Amino acid sequence: MRPAPTIPERLLRKGNPLMLEVVEATVVTPAMRRVSLCLSSEEPFASKPGQSLILVLPGDGDEPACRHYTVRKYHEAQRLIDIDVVLHGDSPANRWARNARPGDRVLAVGPRGHVTLKQEIHDHLLLADETGLPAVLSMLEAMPQAARATALVEIGAPSDQQPWPVRPGIDIRWLVRSNGASAGEAVNLALREMAPSPSVGRHAYIVGETAAVRSQRHYLLSCGFEKSAISAEGYWRPGRIGGHDHID
Ligand SMILES: Cc1cc2nc3c(=O)[nH]c(=O)nc-3n(C[C@H](O)[C@H](O)[C@H](O)COP(=O)(O)OP(=O)(O)OC[C@H]3O[C@@H](n4cnc5c(N)ncnc54)[C@H](O)[C@@H]3O)c2cc1C
Repeated sequence: MRPAPTIPERLLRKGNPLMLEVVEATVVTPAMRRVSLCLSSEEPFASKPGQSLILVLPGDGDEPACRHYTVRKYHEAQRLIDIDVVLHGDSPANRWARNARPGDRVLAVGPRGHVTLKQEIHDHLLLADETGLPAVLSMLEAMPQAARATALVEIGAPSDQQPWPVRPGIDIRWLVRSNGASAGEAVNLALREMAPSPSVGRHAYIVGETAAVRSQRHYLLSCGFEKSAISAEGYWRPGRIGGHDHID
């Protein structure tokens, strides 16, 4: 049996170390598995909507696999963190999510991340593929009643759409990726059809596959959005192992 991974030194600069214990793992949609993790210590925990943890998971070799996952929801009373994992293949995070059992322990660092809800803003535009869906939903849930938001969310199949309560002012458009299309293409097309205006005080959030995020950000800049009105991060990229891409 392999020893449990430890937190690499370089990660300790990125956030607080956390010891978590799996409480349950459930199906959200066919392509998304939720792992609910309990905080083992009494340390205070607070996460802004959209922030993430770096989970330290068993890797393919001796090195741990450090992977970013959004805090989909924090249930304060139970000290429980929900993480929603997109199932895309045979990878360290996917194996962990598929096999997670109550009582399994996992180390993490966080919360961290700058793509978080701007509470002072009233008009939001959110663009994501399925890896960004946990961030988008957690930001939408945290918006005050008066906020307006449009979210373009790309999913792999109609069955990956999640139930969402109808709420005035909040419009989620589920875009199903066509066969053979690359990630983000459906959002790219819908965005160009929409031609969003950079109305005063509007903020855009873009998360998902890196090349798509870059292209969507360039498009918004060409529509007149200020750089400061866009928060963007590349969550994954074909061939890249873990990590993230700064977009600016
Ligand atoms: C701040 C942040 C928050 C994130 N939040 C979430 C989240 O809440 N839920 C979530 O599911 N993901 C999230 N991600 C993305 C996730 O961290 C990556 O997808 C990660 O690479 C998954 O690790 P893995 O072990 O499954 O695959 P890796 O070992 O990293 O990669 C193996 C192979 O799979 C490819 N790959 C990785 N992800 C995908 C994918 N989604 N689709 C297709 N191919 C892929 C890689 O390019 C590589 O070729 C987030 C990323 C960041 C930076």
